[in-house]
Amino acid sequence: MKKYVIVTGGVLSGIGKGIFSASLARLMKEFGVKVNVLKIDPYLNVDAGTMNPNQHGEVFVTDDGYEADLDLGHYERFLGQNMSRQNNMTAGQVYLRVIEKERQGKFLGNTVQIVPHLTEEIKSRIKSLEAELLVVEIGGTVGDIEGEVFLEAVRELQMEEGRENFLFAHVTYVPYLRTTNEFKTKPTQQSVQLLRRAGIVPDMIIVRSEFPIDPSSLSKVSLFSGVPRDFVINLPDTKNVYEVPEILKDIGIHKKIAEKLKLNLKEGNFGWNYPKAFKPYRIALVGKYLGTDDAYKSIIESVFLTGIEKPVVVDSQMLEEMDDDGVTKVLGEYDAIIIPGGFGRRGVEGKIKAIKYARENKKPILGICLGMQLMVVEFARNVLGYKNANSTEFDPNTPYPVVDLMEEQKKIMNLGGTMRLGAQEMKVFPGTKLYEIYGGVETVSERHRHRYEVNEDSFPELFKKPGEPGYKLVISAKSRFIEAIEIEDHPFFIGVQYHPEYKSKVGAPHPIFLYLKKVLEGFE
Ligand code: GLN
Repeated sequence: MKKYVIVTGGVLSGIGKGIFSASLARLMKEFGVKVNVLKIDPYLNVDAGTMNPNQHGEVFVTDDGYEADLDLGHYERFLGQNMSRQNNMTAGQVYLRVIEKERQGKFLGNTVQIVPHLTEEIKSRIKSLEAELLVVEIGGTVGDIEGEVFLEAVRELQMEEGRENFLFAHVTYVPYLRTTNEFKTKPTQQSVQLLRRAGIVPDMIIVRSEFPIDPSSLSKVSLFSGVPRDFVINLPDTKNVYEVPEILKDIGIHKKIAEKLKLNLKEGNFGWNYPKAFKPYRIALVGKYLGTDDAYKSIIESVFLTGIEKPVVVDSQMLEEMDDDGVTKVLGEYDAIIIPGGFGRRGVEGKIKAIKYARENKKPILGICLGMQLMVVEFARNVLGYKNANSTEFDPNTPYPVVDLMEEQKKIMNLGGTMRLGAQEMKVFPGTKLYEIYGGVETVSERHRHRYEVNEDSFPELFKKPGEPGYKLVISAKSRFIEAIEIEDHPFFIGVQYHPEYKSKVGAPHPIFLYLKKVLEGFE
C-alpha cells in the first residue's frame, strides 16, 4: 500500500513548503524508503512556461522538456533524482483534460462537475505516481479559492485509500511582534481551522518562524490544533537551506513519520554533502528580473552549491544607460559575471555592455542561453564591426541577423510548450575548455529552452575551430545548432545555448560552475 505525506501551507506563501517537502523526501530516501514527490499548483496555467519569473520565479525545465514550477528544481537538487512532467500537476492541466473528455463525449449524458469529475482526475493522477512514500505538496495557502478542489480530492483519497496511510503536514508561519516581544499564533490557529473546514485534520504542524519559538507558544499550537506536542515542530529560518534535512533528522522526523505510516526504515548513514563554508567571491548576475531571487533560482543555487557566496543580481537596464566608464565602475566590483537566459528586449543592451566589458578586461563570464546569443551579437558588433548586428528577436530588420529564429519555430503560433525544450545531445570538441570541463567526455546531454539559434550558416566568419589562428569565437560544442562557444585568449569566456543550472544537485553542482570556481581560485 502506498503511503502519503500531504503538505499544505497556511498563513502566507513563500515560507518554505517546497524546501520542507524536498528535505523530508530526501531524509526518507536516505533511510531506504522509495520516495517520489508531486507538486500541485492550483493556478490555471497549464504549465509555468508562460508565467513571468518576476511573479512566480524561474521556469524549471526537466529532461522530458516540461516547463515546471521552480519547486521541481528543489526536488531535483535535494533528492539527486530527475523529475519529469508527472511530478507536477496544475489546475490548468486538470481542467483542460476534463473539458477535452467532455468534448469527446466521454461523460455522455452527465453534468460535468468539479466534484466528482475534476476530483476524480486529480485523484487518478496522484495515484498514478509510483512510490513507497509519495510526498504531495499543495501549492498556495489553505483558503485560496483555486486550491479547494485539490484539498477536496486529497480528503476523498484518504477515505478511499485508508486514513492510516496518510500523514497531513501543515506548514505555517508564526510571526514575531517586536513591539510586544512575543510570538503570535493566531494566524496559525485560523489556518488550521480553514484546513479542518475542508475536512482535513492535520497530523503534524511545521511552525516556521524568524527565530526559535518558546515552548509555551508551541504547546499552544498543539492545544488548539489537536496535534500532539511532539508533532508540532518549529523550524526557524536558516541562512543555508541545505541544513534543513539535517535539522529534520536531528528532530527525528523520519522516525515519527515511519511510526505513524508503518514504514520500515533501514539504518543508513546520512551522507548529506552540502557546502558549509563559502568563498567570498562576488559574482554579478546581470539580469532584469529584480523582484525576487527566485527568478534566477537554479543559477543562484548552482553557484552556492559550489561553495561560493550567492551571486548578486545587477540590473541590466541600469547598465544600459551607462557609458563604458560607468559599466566598468559597477562591474569592476565583481570577480565574475553571469548573463542568464531571458526573453524580450528589455535590458538586452545592458547585457551586451557587460559582455564587452568582460571580454576586453578578461573577467570570467558565463553566458547562458540568451547570454550566449548576446555574446555572439557583441562579438559581431565590436570585433567585426557589424553595426547594429542583433538577434532577430530584438531587431527583426537587423542587417546582421547573427542570431535568428530556428527554422522549425517559424510556423509555430502557440506560445505554450513550443520551444526547443528539454534534454538534447551534443558533441563537445577536444581542445576546448568545455571539453576539459566535461572531463573529456564527447557526447553530453543538456537541457534546453529556446526559440532562437546562432546563425552560423550566414556568418561563418565569426567562428573557428579550436587551435585555428585568429581572434574568433571557438565553437566548443554542437548539435544541429551551435551549443557552446568560448574565447581562447581569456581565462573564462564561455557561452552555452543550454541551461547547465538545471542539472546541479546537492554534492554535485554542474561542472561548469565548479570550473568557474577553480578559475576564481586561480587553480589553487
Ligand atoms: N529568448 C531566447 C530564445 O528564445 C533565449 C531563451 C533563453 O534564454 N532561455 O532563444
